[in-house]
Amino acid sequence: MTDLTELGVAAIRDGVRSGAFSAVEVADAFVVKVAKAKHLNAFLVETPDHALAAARAADAARAGGQTLKPLAGVPIGMKDLFCTKGVATTAASHILEGFVPTYESTISQKLWDAGAGMLGKLNMDQFAMGSSNETSAFGNVISPWRRPGSDAPLAPGGSSGGSSSAVAAGLCPGATGTDTGGSIRQPAAFTGISGIKPTYGRCSRWGTIAFASSLDQAGPMARDVRDCAILLEAMAGFDAKDATSLQLDVPRWEQGLSGDLRGVRVGIPREYRFEGSGDGLNYDLEGLASIGATWKAGIDWLRDAGAEIVEVSLPHTKYALPAYYIIAPAEASSNLARYDGVRYGLRDLPEGAGLQDMYAATRAAGFGPEVKRRIMIGTYVLSAGFYDAYYTQAQKVRTLIARDFERAWETCDVLLTPTAPSAAFALGEKSADPIAMYLNDVFTVPSSLAGLPAMSVPGGLDKQGLPLGLQIIGKPLDEQGVLNAGLAIEQRAGFVARPQAWW
Ligand code: GLN
Repeated sequence: MTDLTELGVAAIRDGVRSGAFSAVEVADAFVVKVAKAKHLNAFLVETPDHALAAARAADAARAGGQTLKPLAGVPIGMKDLFCTKGVATTAASHILEGFVPTYESTISQKLWDAGAGMLGKLNMDQFAMGSSNETSAFGNVISPWRRPGSDAPLAPGGSSGGSSSAVAAGLCPGATGTDTGGSIRQPAAFTGISGIKPTYGRCSRWGTIAFASSLDQAGPMARDVRDCAILLEAMAGFDAKDATSLQLDVPRWEQGLSGDLRGVRVGIPREYRFEGSGDGLNYDLEGLASIGATWKAGIDWLRDAGAEIVEVSLPHTKYALPAYYIIAPAEASSNLARYDGVRYGLRDLPEGAGLQDMYAATRAAGFGPEVKRRIMIGTYVLSAGFYDAYYTQAQKVRTLIARDFERAWETCDVLLTPTAPSAAFALGEKSADPIAMYLNDVFTVPSSLAGLPAMSVPGGLDKQGLPLGLQIIGKPLDEQGVLNAGLAIEQRAGFVARPQAWW
């Protein structure tokens, strides 16, 4: 019998429906694989009972002749940013150690309602702040990929690095991620998988631990475009408990999939050709050359699929990263004020301490260095003396960036860009230099600031044999256009490389 962990979401769903194998067989196979993969450090909590219970329910439904739910028999991994009732949820921070939610996030609830089971909670950058998974309080996640002839551990990307590592290593067919400035797309690119961040407001934020509320969006990460479409259909939809949730029906994205792009205009933004000079920032030029070649191949594939290629300009692109690193920390400083030792998780109450001392001691002991850096930056840019100079200015830039995209949509339907400026780097390579780390988000934050749907699909391998991602950005609510362009690339890229198991 085939190894069931080689199958993706669609193949598992269809196989369980047809009776080719049982849901319990699938869950068992993945549970064993997760338990063996400790070296990747992708899971913070393993929940085999949850996965098996969902599988048993799927098998019983089939035996009883009932119509199976859309994700019946599909086990998934859940990023630890989503609150799960009765299962420890920490956002990979010490400050939430011991926190066991008494409620279920809307996203996870929707997935369980659709029949999925949970294999466990996935490690991540602490409070989703990071691009390499090195800010987790519970150890780095390691990518299953390696450079040839080297066993140096590589970053799986961040912040959804537990999700990307687990999917790429075949520990789960799909996983949830969240994306504030690129945290679904960049880890997907680093590990040779696909991931989509929908339009802001498509997925409820209720019960998802907040980082930057005007940017945070949940989305799926999986092996291919179809699997992403299936999972996103289960995750999206209006939720009265989230005031920014969009009151719209969920389209049938899987049914609408088509790699035929005749009549579609694909914009190539000129400003995404970072030459590594002029702005004084230090880009990895070799990485850029490699990703440039993949980008060119992507353009040819989309043309081959029938699309018309047009050059467009997004003139404010270079201001996106600085604006993001003002707005996101500002919102984080406010959102993270709630962790004070009173209500959740950790409490550090020194002998004879007053309330203020307890707050300070708890926060000093509970937050990691990157989280503290963001809280300090955020508090500074929101302070009375600097609010206008930084925060108001960044909000204006955000509007200009959104307007750039609106203008672009006058001449094109989707945009094609690289996902990240390089392939995966080694752990430790950038962790001492926050600016170098932040530069990873240069291609992903503009669409986050504009709230647009965007996806990463594998485009090929670099000279060292590591995956490179291509990003498709769409108009508001046009996830279908994004998925279809992603599919057209997938059908032509022939990306079949998988990491060699060493873990
Ligand atoms: N890497 C970015 C950051 O550190 C994005 C994180 C995210 O999307 N959650 O803020």
